[in-house]
Amino acid sequence: IRQKIVAGNWKMNGSVESITALVTDLLKADSSNSEVVVSPSFPYLHLVSTLCAQNDQIKLAAQNVSDKASGAFTGEVSASMLEDFAVKYVLVGHSERRSLYGETDDVVALKVQSLINKDFIPMLCIGETLEEREAGQTLAVCERQIKAVLDLLGVEAFNRIVIAYEPVWAIGTGLSATAEQAQAVHSGIRAFLASFSESVAQRVQILYGGSVKASSSRDLFAMPDIDGALVGGASLDAKEFLEIVKAAG
Ligand code: 13P
Repeated sequence: IRQKIVAGNWKMNGSVESITALVTDLLKADSSNSEVVVSPSFPYLHLVSTLCAQNDQIKLAAQNVSDKASGAFTGEVSASMLEDFAVKYVLVGHSERRSLYGETDDVVALKVQSLINKDFIPMLCIGETLEEREAGQTLAVCERQIKAVLDLLGVEAFNRIVIAYEPVWAIGTGLSATAEQAQAVHSGIRAFLASFSESVAQRVQILYGGSVKASSSRDLFAMPDIDGALVGGASLDAKEFLEIVKAAG
């Protein structure tokens, strides 16, 4: 019942030339029952939306947004600016933003708020470090990261949020969580949300991210609580990414 989403987070990669080539290849693919999403850096949003204009198969995600509405915030991009592009989703709280740029749970919650106010769908990224996993804190960390949003916006907000569980130790390391490890966390996240609202918990799409490859995607997607993937490195290769899309059905 929950549609799968396969999203490619291109991170700080690409050029006009390489992105044009990548999107051109993606557009040649057969239609899919899953939703396909790509997330270029800000300067390429317009290019990608133009390339995809004749095709509603590929949706656009931005990689970040400011928590502020407008003003003297050099280098920041507001939610209302994103309204000028055909952006549907926005990543928030990616672990690289949290660890390298100091985004706290509270700032992430404010970003989610600024997006929901504008009808975007936040992709709320959560996940534990290796140290936290080894200390048995995996679910507690995910719950804390979700709780900041719950406290600010209430559980109903999660009707309009996609969650991406991305264990930090699996990102860019080639070391994916096993399908069973990911499923255990996804079902824990869903159970946590169910303690606030059963219907929200049943509806919310929870994507897995962290070294997803075509070869690992089928097992991940077979799990009952894994509703798609947020793919980094493998999304820069059209063939590999499209195999992941195919695995999602
Ligand atoms: P990798 O697929 O490169 O591990 O990156 C995952 C990720 O961070 C997606 O947001």
